[in-house]
Amino acid sequence: MITDVLMPVMDGYELVRQMRLDPATRQIPVLFYTAHYGEREARSLALTNGVADVLTKPSDSKEVLRVVDSVLSGKKNTSTVRSGLPRDAAFDREHLRLVTDKLSEKVGDLRVANGRLRALINIGLELASEKDQKHLLQKACEAARDLFGATYVTLGIVEEKDRTLKDLFGHGTDSLDWIRAGYAVPGILAKVVEERRVMRGDNPDGNPAKIRLSAGHPEIQSFLAVPVASPSRVYGWFCLVRNEGIPFTDEDENLVAALSGQIGRIYESVLLEALSRSRAAELEVQIAGRQRVEADLGRERDRSQRYLDAAAIILLALDTEGRVTLVNRYGSSLLGWTSEELVGRNFIETCLPPREHALSNQRFREVIAGDLTLVVKPVITRSGEERLIEWRNTILRDDSGSVIGTLSSGTDITDRDRAAEALRTAEERMRFALESAAVGIWDIDYAAGVLRWSPILEAQFGLEPGTFAGTFEAFVERVHPDDREIVLDAMSHAMRSGTDFSVQFRAIWTNGTVRRLSGSGRIHLGENGEPVRGVGISLDVTERRNLEEQFQQAQKMEAIGRLAAGVAHDFNNLLTVILGNCELLLGDLTPDHPSQPDVSEIQKAAVRATDLTRQLLSFSRKQTIEPKRLDLNAVVTEMHAMLRRLLAGVEIVLRTGSELDPVTADPGQIEQVVMNLAVNARDAMSGGGILTIETANVVLDERYAKTHLGVPPGPYVMLRVADTGCGMTAEVQTRLFEPFFTTKEVGKGTGLGLATVHGIVRRSGGSIRVSSEEGVGTEFAIYLPRAPLTEASAAAVVPVLSPATGVETVLVMDDARERRELTRRLLERQGYTVHVAADEEEALRAFELHPGIEVLLTDIVMTGPSGPAFTRRLTSRRPALKVIYVSGYTEAEEALVHRAPLDSRVGFLHKPFTSEILGRTVREVLDRPKSTTEADESLTIH
Ligand code: ADP
Ligand code: MG
Repeated sequence: MITDVLMPVMDGYELVRQMRLDPATRQIPVLFYTAHYGEREARSLALTNGVADVLTKPSDSKEVLRVVDSVLSGKKNTSTVRSGLPRDAAFDREHLRLVTDKLSEKVGDLRVANGRLRALINIGLELASEKDQKHLLQKACEAARDLFGATYVTLGIVEEKDRTLKDLFGHGTDSLDWIRAGYAVPGILAKVVEERRVMRGDNPDGNPAKIRLSAGHPEIQSFLAVPVASPSRVYGWFCLVRNEGIPFTDEDENLVAALSGQIGRIYESVLLEALSRSRAAELEVQIAGRQRVEADLGRERDRSQRYLDAAAIILLALDTEGRVTLVNRYGSSLLGWTSEELVGRNFIETCLPPREHALSNQRFREVIAGDLTLVVKPVITRSGEERLIEWRNTILRDDSGSVIGTLSSGTDITDRDRAAEALRTAEERMRFALESAAVGIWDIDYAAGVLRWSPILEAQFGLEPGTFAGTFEAFVERVHPDDREIVLDAMSHAMRSGTDFSVQFRAIWTNGTVRRLSGSGRIHLGENGEPVRGVGISLDVTERRNLEEQFQQAQKMEAIGRLAAGVAHDFNNLLTVILGNCELLLGDLTPDHPSQPDVSEIQKAAVRATDLTRQLLSFSRKQTIEPKRLDLNAVVTEMHAMLRRLLAGVEIVLRTGSELDPVTADPGQIEQVVMNLAVNARDAMSGGGILTIETANVVLDERYAKTHLGVPPGPYVMLRVADTGCGMTAEVQTRLFEPFFTTKEVGKGTGLGLATVHGIVRRSGGSIRVSSEEGVGTEFAIYLPRAPLTEASAAAVVPVLSPATGVETVLVMDDARERRELTRRLLERQGYTVHVAADEEEALRAFELHPGIEVLLTDIVMTGPSGPAFTRRLTSRRPALKVIYVSGYTEAEEALVHRAPLDSRVGFLHKPFTSEILGRTVREVLDRPKSTTEADESLTIH
């Protein structure tokens, strides 16, 4: 048995004693294997207690084997050991002293160890609370020197990367300048930091050079150098030096190692803390900075996003193959795709209508090649709707400058385009409207002094398109000099006030033509009230103004006509009384009565006055149209005297054709024709001349008929009126029958004369031929159809000049007493029985009192409109009653007359009338045969 001496529970001595007491183990040799102290005492005690030998630690294996071998071979006789020997007191004392020594020695060791441990722990705690690295390391040096009883201590910190010295601390020595910062760590210390090794050893003569330390290093004999390190890193060395001859023990090594480990960890944490503090600060700055940047970026992004959203712009990037590489939200939503769907697709094929593909591909290649002009192209959305997009393109290049695609921004101009289209249409319509209404347009730019005219406006001033000079002066030049002031006034007022203006003026063409224009415009004023721009329109109102004037003239004539007719009507009534009384007077006076010539003169004057009223009425055309067989010679002869008065200074030659055929016409109208032609002739012969009036029977042949519309060949009666006046130009000749065509100055000509002539002649089935030569004269030839010959015999009956007397009873109804009485006296003188009535009541009473009344002579215009109705009532009650209306050419009369002439029981008498005409008319009406049809008709009416 090999056993240690000192063991827990039972030491070696006690073990041997026990073994010897047991016979089974009594013979077994025992070897003590023991270390340290008290070897001598232990050996003697051991040998006395039957222990074969004592091996001291450390013993090499050969020594152990030799001892064990000798024990087993019995050279060391263990038999001398008293087997089963009881423990005696000496042994116990000796054993106890040994154990106590041993124990006290152990306790002392323990106390030292405990003190060191406590110191170590305290150092650890103290160091751990040290935040400053330099203080920490300095303190560590001090604590270690005290704890381990070192002469001095050094502590070096090295750079991590190249292990050169960074910092050196020491305690117990002042010479720390043997190495400087940045220098390589020498000798054993280099091994410590580089190989992370503990170096313990002795350098007996203390020369540092011996252990390859620099010469300046303090004396160094025993040394213990350990790394200052954390598990991950070596920070430096920790070196304890004893120059008093006490070498460092294993325990020293262990404790110093533990201490340096602690220092290493604390140092690291301090380092890290400092580092992390600075890092954290740095990081904080970095983070704060980054956050700010990010916030800025975010805001920027938001802003640009909002801008892009609001601006509604498509952003689209394509690669060189035309595939979408990027599309913004607006773009994708407009196109109806998500951007994920679009990216990677060929844009043209996906988003453009097929008809555009070829052209757009071509266009895309041009963009890639560098053509960056604006493009407007339709896109087709996923739902099939087309939108018009205006694209702006740029080229994208990589770092080396080669083209990698395009970036385009697209604006949806569909609505803008539609609006533009609508505007175009509206403009076109407007232009069309203005053109078709022949409205000229002008605009003036006051700053540039430019006045622009549309071609229509140029035409209104008689200019070829594009020839207007374009200045305000050029415009004023073309305004009639008399109207310039009006125009300038109107425009300058508008320029001051900014209000719209309109002005009527005459434009004068270079060829002398004068046109009437109506212009209006608006002048836009600037901030300081200065004119900036003006626009306006112009209308040629020449024709309209002419018509207006003609219309005004016609209205004036109409008014005069009404007045004249009214005067003539009243005048006729008076003339009737004058003429009637003259006749009565002449009938009463003997031919040799001295008053007879005077009364005759009164009668002649009254007859002339009657002619004048007739002219007056024909002028106002308020005459009854009564076409009848007419002898033109009689008419022109009758007019001769009047014409002579009218055409003073003009010689009148009257050539009436013999055996002239009659025509069917209204004598008043024929008079009017002659009058108008004569007046025109007079106007054409201001310096005097000859007026020839001629009548003749003519036959118009086929040739004439062919060249004159609506004139059948056949027999005509010609009325020729010729003058030796100024004649007419060809232009005037083509227009002279136009109503309102006149070459005479305002107030003189109406332009209605020849139009009236033309109307009358055409209504009579005739035609007119004009021939005229300027400066020589003019000739009008009027052809009226010959009246049918069948009526010739009947017509021959008319001029019966036998005294028109009678015995019948006549009722004269008239509201004017003088006329009533005059008519009564005239008729009584011709043998008639005459009753009078002032109104219908009196008339009815007269019919009751005098049933023999055969004819009623009544003024058409009796008081009230019931006149004609009254007579109709009378005639229906008395079918045999004849009625003679006395007419004064009023419109109402005319209407009645036109309705009446079919009835053979009705006759007309025009005012003023002579007693002869009165008598003849009454006689003629009374003598009309009573036809059976009329009787039947009257019966029917009855
Ligand atoms: P007015 O006499 O009012 O002018 P008319 O219809 O009677 O209107 O005549 C039309 C025009 O014809 C006249 O203005 C004149 O120029 C021309 N004219 C008519 N008769 C003659 C004439 N005998 N000689 C020359 N010109 C004439
Ligand atoms: Mg005329």
